Amino acid sequence: MSIFTAVEMAPRDPILGLNEQYAADTNPNKVNLGVGVYYDDNGKLPLLECVKAAEADMMKAPSARGYLPIDGIAAYDNAVKGLVFGADSEPVKSGRVATIQAIGGTGGLKVGADFLKKVNPDAKVLISDPSWENHRALFTNAGFNVEAYPYYDAEKRGVNFDGMLEALGSAASGTIVVLHACCHNPTGYDLTPDQWDQVIGVVRAKHLVPFLDMAYQGFGYGIAEDGAVIGKFVAAGLSFFVSTSFSKSFSLYGERVGALSVLCADKDEAARVLSQLKIAIRTNYSNPPIHGGAVVAAVLGDPARRAVWEKELAEMRERIKAMRHKLVDGLKAAGVQRDMSFITQQIGMFSYSGLTKDQMVTLRNEYGVYGTDTGRMCVAALNSKNIDYVCQSIAKVLS
Ligand code: PMP
Repeated sequence: MSIFTAVEMAPRDPILGLNEQYAADTNPNKVNLGVGVYYDDNGKLPLLECVKAAEADMMKAPSARGYLPIDGIAAYDNAVKGLVFGADSEPVKSGRVATIQAIGGTGGLKVGADFLKKVNPDAKVLISDPSWENHRALFTNAGFNVEAYPYYDAEKRGVNFDGMLEALGSAASGTIVVLHACCHNPTGYDLTPDQWDQVIGVVRAKHLVPFLDMAYQGFGYGIAEDGAVIGKFVAAGLSFFVSTSFSKSFSLYGERVGALSVLCADKDEAARVLSQLKIAIRTNYSNPPIHGGAVVAAVLGDPARRAVWEKELAEMRERIKAMRHKLVDGLKAAGVQRDMSFITQQIGMFSYSGLTKDQMVTLRNEYGVYGTDTGRMCVAALNSKNIDYVCQSIAKVLS
């Protein structure tokens, strides 16, 4: 008898479980389209030139590692504010944005969730159906009751916008609404600017609390283009949360670089909110790690280096788009009858392929092509060497 006798085995993380199965697969042609990671055309995880250069500079003058302030590196937080809201924007200039360096985008969401639990403990959280699989667990673990608003319409291959708007319209005042700012994970379908305006209208009328998850800024149409939705929320006069992740956009997954920004009514309110965010951080992990934040700050704070980053980010973005077209063309060439052109209408890293669970399992077990059971495939893991095999495998599964 031990104090852990009654502890049950937790369910395996679906994506990590897939990775283990992939690693054990002896098929020489195997392709992993399960994880949300960008690989270059050689199937390698890129180390960006801008990151390499910033790190080389740091190595020339190695520094001692004291504790960072609770809210992280000031230059980093300022760079995040600039990226998310615009350096010369009214919210930044008036000092009404509270930003903290977080441990990845996940950390930004969790610090925000912990803070919200104090502000409005009885609020419900609404996430999209479907959503990034950690949203539900994260907000549930922060103590919230989590429900979903309609989002994906399988028949239409797009957003069930009427359903979404109706669900938001009938939510109680104070409900926290988690919205994917761009590159919706897992479906790849984003709202149009006009639909965003309508969502903002309902959010404002119903006094909902928007929490924008921006894990892919720059992976959709561009840094400014993907960030435009933030400007819309600002223009509507709303207070809201934005979590940022640099995991993908800087290819710094393991450095855990992210942030949380909260737009407040004024500077005084931002100072009070920041003080509470710091409590959430202090009681969880005290203060963030240095390296990743220092690298991102060094790149974003230097115009020449930032230009290199923007070029490298554009290359990643364009390569994904090219792969979407190759996938559609390749599937057609491999004999797939149904129209798969919707893949090029999706945006970001993922494609909701429309394949059923059974088809995904066959694809995995018989052909070594790994996607999630929901039909999600990571387009950013396709390359000129594996694309033909993937197209042929999907064609066989669909025939
Ligand atoms: N939100 C979404 C929508 C994501 O897809 C991810 C991870 N890919 C995250 C948040 C978490 O990002 P991070 O890995 O930086 O914690």
